[in-house]
Amino acid sequence: MRSLNDEAGNGPAVASPSHDGRAPAHGGRARFDYLIVGAGFAGSVLAERLARGLDKRVLLIDRRPHIGGNAYDHLNDDGLLIHRYGPHIFHTNSQQVVDYLSRFTGWRPYEHRVLAQAAGQLVPIPINRTTVNRLYGLDLDEAGVATFLKSKAEPVAEVRTSEDVVVGAVGRELYETFFRGYTRKQWGLDPSELDRSVTARVPTRTNDDDRYFGDKFQMMPLHGYTRMFEAMLDHPNITLALGSDHRTVAREVRYDRLIFTGPVDEYFDFRFGRLPYRSLRFRHETVDREWFQPVGVVNYPAEEVAHTRITEYKHLTGQSHPRTALTYEYPSAEGDPYYPVPKPENAALYRQYQALADATPGVHFVGRLATYRYYNMDQVVGQALALYGRLAEAEAKGGTGGGTRAAAERIAAIGGRSATEPVAL
Ligand SMILES: Cc1cc2nc3c(=O)[nH]c(=O)nc-3n(C[C@H](O)[C@H](O)[C@H](O)COP(=O)(O)OP(=O)(O)OC[C@H]3O[C@@H](n4cnc5c(N)ncnc54)[C@H](O)[C@@H]3O)c2cc1C
Repeated sequence: MRSLNDEAGNGPAVASPSHDGRAPAHGGRARFDYLIVGAGFAGSVLAERLARGLDKRVLLIDRRPHIGGNAYDHLNDDGLLIHRYGPHIFHTNSQQVVDYLSRFTGWRPYEHRVLAQAAGQLVPIPINRTTVNRLYGLDLDEAGVATFLKSKAEPVAEVRTSEDVVVGAVGRELYETFFRGYTRKQWGLDPSELDRSVTARVPTRTNDDDRYFGDKFQMMPLHGYTRMFEAMLDHPNITLALGSDHRTVAREVRYDRLIFTGPVDEYFDFRFGRLPYRSLRFRHETVDREWFQPVGVVNYPAEEVAHTRITEYKHLTGQSHPRTALTYEYPSAEGDPYYPVPKPENAALYRQYQALADATPGVHFVGRLATYRYYNMDQVVGQALALYGRLAEAEAKGGTGGGTRAAAERIAAIGGRSATEPVAL
């Protein structure tokens, strides 16, 4: 991995690309086959593959001062490994994604468990047998819980909203205990205003399974995500420029193709308006005791509590330390774009940008911001590997590699989960 200054001597300024994003065939010093905007999973996987697999010269940039995108982790001032942008738990059903990432990291087995603070106690979420028995002071077996939930469920004539989904499955009381307040805080909208997809696949269990995810592979990178990204990007064909914005760099270097993993509406200067996002504020702190809570994440569904959840990283990382690091999450309308707001009008707005993106030659839009979808990490890795496959195929045939839509379609095969699963509860 090199820095941009190694390439360009005393500065990166070389030549401006022409209007379609392709570099002019003359002038300047630093020249790359690919400019990749964004060093998260999408950009880093593609940088690695293009450099190592196709021997391409890649300039990978990020406007943030670090690699890893939202999965970035680091040691805090107390020497505890934390995730700057909230807890990232790796889970997938894709052997292909596991095999690929295993080239750059070992793994620590970790099954994520979440408790919710409700009615003065901590109960498992998603709702399972323990949740029902504890909340109602019962001792039901599996069949008893199924019958109980059925008796609570309210018939909903047409399931349109998130509220309909949950009330139809577990009834109004459990909906109000676990979903209404949490969703109103998380999205700034009442569940009755949110697309049914937000809660459509939130599972309800009648057995004692208290794992948050059902995936075949559940684990954490042994030394953290950032170390994994460092290993991925450790290649002489990859030049890294951090703290660098696309607009500035694109004017200063020459490149043949662009891979853009930033917000698609920003790329097109918000031509049709801004795609709405929900953001988060993270409050990180270290407390002077060995453990703070019994599991990695505790949810706070009550509306009167400002934060939605608290993460205690040592559960995730396995780190031994006399103190413990926490992150409180406060949903917010302002700030970095984290969650696309799942409403039909936003999907329609995105389709306008998608049409523009599909019609822009020499540029590939990939990742969660460029495709305006909440994707899990494994899905983004799958999307990036699929795009790489197309680029490699086109290279072999002497073509252009095509758009990202077909690659995006293949994501369904990776993980096969709801795009909103981790944020619905
Ligand atoms: C709070 C939270 C928790 C999550 N938890 C999980 C989890 O437990 N498990 C899971 O699988 N997934 C989780 N995810 C999803 C995960 O973060 C994404 O799947 C993953 O980060 C997507 O990678 P990406 O490369 O598409 O985007 P990102 O990681 O966002 O990377 C895009 C990068 O592009 C850079 N960029 C954007 N525009 C520009 C520009 N114009 N110029 C230069 N750089 C630019 C950004 O700075 C950013 O670093 C979570 C997401 C959030 C928000």
